[in-house]
Amino acid sequence: MKLSFSVEDEQFRAEVASWLRENLCGDFEPIRGRGGPGDEHMYVAERKAWERKLSEGGWTCIGWPVAYGGRGASLEQQVIFNEEYARAGGPGRMGHIGEGLIGPTLIAFGSEAQKQRYLPGIVRGEELWCQGYSEPNAGSDLANVKTRARFDDESGQWKITGQKVWTSLAHESEYCFVIARTDPDSVGQKGLGFFLVAMDQPGIDVRPIAQLTGTSEFNEVFFDEAVCAPDDIVGAPGEGWKVAMGLLGFERGVSTLGQQMLFQNEFDEIIRVAKENGAARDPAIRQRIADAHVGLRIMRFNSMRMLSGGSSDGGLQKEAMIYKLYWATWHRNLGKLAMDVLGAESEILNGRPYELNRLQSLFLFTRSDTIYGGTNQIQRNIIAERALGMPREPRG
Ligand SMILES: Cc1cc2nc3c(=O)[nH]c(=O)nc-3n(C[C@H](O)[C@H](O)[C@H](O)COP(=O)(O)OP(=O)(O)OC[C@H]3O[C@@H](n4cnc5c(N)ncnc54)[C@H](O)[C@@H]3O)c2cc1C
Repeated sequence: MKLSFSVEDEQFRAEVASWLRENLCGDFEPIRGRGGPGDEHMYVAERKAWERKLSEGGWTCIGWPVAYGGRGASLEQQVIFNEEYARAGGPGRMGHIGEGLIGPTLIAFGSEAQKQRYLPGIVRGEELWCQGYSEPNAGSDLANVKTRARFDDESGQWKITGQKVWTSLAHESEYCFVIARTDPDSVGQKGLGFFLVAMDQPGIDVRPIAQLTGTSEFNEVFFDEAVCAPDDIVGAPGEGWKVAMGLLGFERGVSTLGQQMLFQNEFDEIIRVAKENGAARDPAIRQRIADAHVGLRIMRFNSMRMLSGGSSDGGLQKEAMIYKLYWATWHRNLGKLAMDVLGAESEILNGRPYELNRLQSLFLFTRSDTIYGGTNQIQRNIIAERALGMPREPRG
C-alpha cells in the first residue's frame, strides 16, 4: 500500500497551501469552514464569488484535461488539493456537482459541441448544476423514472414533463441534468434519455423542501413541457441509462476523498467540546472518541490503498465500493457522539427558525448520510454482487 506522496506531489501540496493562505482571507474570511452539507444556505453570494476566485487561480476542475480548462492533475494531486482545501477551512464548494459529476460525464460521453458549450462555464465557476435523478417512486430503484421527454416536431425541441425530488441546490442552479423517458412504452433501464436543461424557464417550478435542520438545501422540481434543445441530449435517445450510470461512477470516485479532512475538523471540534465541558472524563465517551479516531485512520488508509491501485482489476474498483458505506456509517455515528458529548445541552434549541450550534447541525444532517448517494442497503447489495460475486438480488 502506498503510504506517502512523492516529492513532486509534496511540492504541489505546498503550492496549494500557499495559494489558499494568500487568497482565503480578507473578504473571504467569513466563509472559512462554512457551506457544505447542512450549511448550504450560508454565504451563498460570497461562496459563488469564491468559486470565481478559485477559477482565476486555476483551482477549479483541476482533474480535467488541460484541453477543457483543467490542469490534468493526477489522482494523487486531486486528493492533496482536497486535503489542503479542507485543512485551510475552504468553504463548501457551490460548483461541486458541475465539477465532479456533469463535467467528467460530458468529457466522457458528450459531443464536442456540448463540451464547448457547457464546460467553460463550470471551469469559470459561473454556471452551477443540479442533479435531476430521483423521483417520488424512483430513488434506489432509479430505473423506475416516469418523467417523460417528447420530441416536439413543431418546435424542433424536446419537451420534458414530470417531477424530480430531493434536487440539491436546484434553487441556485443554472442547469439541471435530467433522466427522462424518451420511449413512453418502455420500462426499466431501456428507453431513457439524459438531458441538459436550463433551469430559468417557464416550464420549471422549483419548490424548496424544509429539512430537519430548519433550512432548505434541496427541492421538488416540477417540469411542465420544459424545453430542451435537440442537441442537449447526451448520447442517443434510449441510451440515457449508460450515461446516468457513468455519472454515478464519478460520484463514487475521487470527489469524495477530500472529505476526510472535513471530518477531522468536526472530530477536533467534538474533542474540544469534550475537554471543555468535562465529557472527556467519561470512560464510555473516551472509548467512543478513540473508536472514531480509529475509523478516520481506516478511511485514510483505504484511500491510500485506492490510490495504490492494489485491486486485481487495476484501479479504484473494490476499495471504492466499501468507501460510501464506511464513511456514511462512521459519520452518522460521529453525529451521535457529538450529541452525547454535548449532553443535555444538545436538546436545547433557540426558537424558530432554529438556531443550531455546529454539532447539533452535524447530528441532524448526518441522518441523511446513509441515504444520499446510494443508501447503506444499496451499498451492501453492490458489495455483495459486484465485489463478492454473490447472486444478484431478484429484480422486479
Ligand atoms: C441530503 C440528500 C440530498 C439528495 N440530493 C439529491 C440530488 O441532488 N438529486 C437527486 O436526484 N437525488 C438526490 N437525493 C435523493 C437520493 O438519491 C435518494 O434519497 C436515495 O437514492 C434513496 O432513494 P429514496 O429516498 O427514494 O428511498 P427508497 O429507494 O424508497 O428507499 C427506502 C428504503 O428502502 C431501502 N431499499 C430500497 N431498495 C432496496 C433494495 N433493493 N434492497 C434493500 N433495501 C432497499 C433503502 O435502503 C431505504 O432504506 C438526495 C437525498 C438526500 C438525503
